[in-house]
Amino acid sequence: MRKRVYIAYTGGTIGMTLSKEGYSPAPGYLKMQMENILELQSGMMPEYTINEYNPLLDSANMTPEMWVAIAQDIADNYHGYDGFVVLHGTDTMAYTASALSFMLEGLNKPVIVTGSQIPICEVRNDARGNLITAILIAGNYNIPEVCLYFGDRLLRGNRTVKVSADELDAFNSPNYAPLGTVGVDIKINWDLMHWNKNEKITIHEFAQHSIGTLRIFPGIRADVVENILKPPLEGVVLETYGAGNIPDQNEALIEVLQKACEQGLVIVACTQCLRGTVDLGAYQAGAVLEKVGVISGFDMTTEAALTKMYYLFSRGYKVEEIRKLMQINIAGELTPTTKE
Ligand code: ASP
Repeated sequence: MRKRVYIAYTGGTIGMTLSKEGYSPAPGYLKMQMENILELQSGMMPEYTINEYNPLLDSANMTPEMWVAIAQDIADNYHGYDGFVVLHGTDTMAYTASALSFMLEGLNKPVIVTGSQIPICEVRNDARGNLITAILIAGNYNIPEVCLYFGDRLLRGNRTVKVSADELDAFNSPNYAPLGTVGVDIKINWDLMHWNKNEKITIHEFAQHSIGTLRIFPGIRADVVENILKPPLEGVVLETYGAGNIPDQNEALIEVLQKACEQGLVIVACTQCLRGTVDLGAYQAGAVLEKVGVISGFDMTTEAALTKMYYLFSRGYKVEEIRKLMQINIAGELTPTTKE
């Protein structure tokens, strides 16, 4: 029997056409193009159903409410299909892939998020290849994860970052090896999978929460940071230097961070570097963070840390529990350090 794949088409460059203002989503267009791709009609391909969202989004307009809609769409169709493809713009694809990995607890079927840098309407494009391979993987490989497929690599969704605005190899998962590579053969690294113990899928919807990110830079002012960290902010990903450092000679800044932590703000330190982990004990300029109550995000991407906070706050955990759980691996997003 032919495998069945459900496609949630949320928007993105992949199905855009050229308008006077530049590329924009065109309802019905991608579906029509796909009907004309002979390979997609081949008996060797899974059958697919495509659900075109209304409106189709440039993913710059993606929201947590839309993440809930996508997760719900997958859950509603979970038992009728072998796998799922989410067609999405590249700009916020890593955020959506991260969010879905926390929302879809107990996932035991592949959810492959993909899109393209060049729309399918262009003669030379990466849309066709990404689409065909994502459907093939979703239908034929029993991968229990939310993945991102792009540029011949299958990556763990919550480890991904968009690394290029104009190359076809637009994504990477710098702190985790690819779950699969696509060359002459499709090779899946089964040893790297995050297997679920639960048999049943559960959706954890994200509620309205005030969460943000803040990047440290030379000359950052304490009064600016103080304004950003004010209520109603509940959690913030602090993008620190290197192994988790901030200007520790800026006493006013340290005081602001300490006060915010005491008042219950969850501050998680991630690194501005693409590779490697935060280690708050490595330098004096990092140890101060631990002292004032900032917690380590280890090797999590900002995208993963941000969406994980949405997830934990939405589940109603108390601040202390959230601080603890942010440092524990939940969906393959973090490599716990072995150091005591
Ligand atoms: N702005 C587009 C989007 O994210 C870019 C893309 O799809 O590649 O929807």
